[in-house]
Amino acid sequence: MKILVANIGSTSLKWRLFDFSNNAERLLHKGGFERVADYPKAIEDCLAQLKDAGALANESELAAVGFKTVIAKDVTGCVRLDERVLGAMEAYNGLAPAHNPPYITGIRLFGKRMPGVPLVGLFETAFYQFAPEAMMRYAVPDAWRDIGIRRWGFHGASHKFIAERSAELLGRNDVAERVRKLYVDGGKTSVNGTSLRVISCHLGGSSSVTGINSGVAIGTSMGMSPQSGLPQNNRVGDLDAEAIPYAVKTLGITNEEAQRQLTKESGLKGISGVSNDIRDVHKAVADGNAKAKLALDVYVASARHWIGSYFFEMGGADAIVFTAGIGENDFAIRSGICAGLEGLGIELDAALNASTRATETVLSKPSSRVKLLVIPTNEELVVARETKRLLESSRN
Ligand code: AMP
Repeated sequence: MKILVANIGSTSLKWRLFDFSNNAERLLHKGGFERVADYPKAIEDCLAQLKDAGALANESELAAVGFKTVIAKDVTGCVRLDERVLGAMEAYNGLAPAHNPPYITGIRLFGKRMPGVPLVGLFETAFYQFAPEAMMRYAVPDAWRDIGIRRWGFHGASHKFIAERSAELLGRNDVAERVRKLYVDGGKTSVNGTSLRVISCHLGGSSSVTGINSGVAIGTSMGMSPQSGLPQNNRVGDLDAEAIPYAVKTLGITNEEAQRQLTKESGLKGISGVSNDIRDVHKAVADGNAKAKLALDVYVASARHWIGSYFFEMGGADAIVFTAGIGENDFAIRSGICAGLEGLGIELDAALNASTRATETVLSKPSSRVKLLVIPTNEELVVARETKRLLESSRN
């Protein structure tokens, strides 16, 4: 069974082709285009590359095309992307203006190009659909909640990958199996052992922290939009609701300009004044730049704030997992996050931490009650796996 996963940006198309034949999971091909001006041509060129590489003889060989869709009104999970679902995505364009419109356009173009091939979306919000309402509700009037103002959560594919893989690495196949079936049976798969409490830290260009109890998310740092939680590369993260009207009035700027500054000129870039890439911020710190140091300190403090929140909520943690560009590679940030927490049973092995880059590793000392892990994430594989599961469950 071959499944193509298409990652659609406003001017980019990236893809991975997976083959699930013979109970294996094989990546057959990956590629992409930036600065796409003609999307139908980009789809043709993608198919041509797959054929040239011998990965695909014909598009009718595809069991499905899977998409890491972001958010839709009253729809989540892993679903067939028919006109009803595309309409539900359109209805929430305002919540994800950078993501939903290009996805809707791209999905329709794939549908036109290969009408016989099922199109499937795994929504980024899916992983949080079973989280307690108390962890997801903002204290707003019902009328606000009714138009979608609540915590939705994002990075769902990544945190789901971590939920499953961390359970496997910690010897809890019962929990891993619950995660595998989450969108088929709503987390009803029973677990044999005691609960497994994992705090998943997706730290990258965009960052979020999620608490996961026995495979099911209990809450996440991202809110109604990806514009909350930790400071992001160039986006603000958490901000007091009064800040925007106050800044608009006091700085004499428009709402749109305030939004632009909060989504383009804030986060690590905004505080440091250096760059939206944490590697450049580190270099500036080494050169004695105090603003750059403050940017890293704010980032670490926010990560600790959210990790602490789920640690407390779950009565502790069995594992804290670091993933994505910063989480997998940046040992200084990992060490800052774990500093001084020995009393909570969090003991980082400094030498192991310093030498670990983007490989599955246990970073904690053997005596540490909380395991500290690096697990490289694989969001596209999760989309492909869920697409496969949906096809199989709708066949039964
Ligand atoms: P992601 O969103 O997961 O692709 O992560 C991208 C971010 O990870 C980049 O903006 C960098 O700030 C950071 N990053 C990538 N590689 C490294 C590295 N080797 N060391 C530190 N940070 C890194």
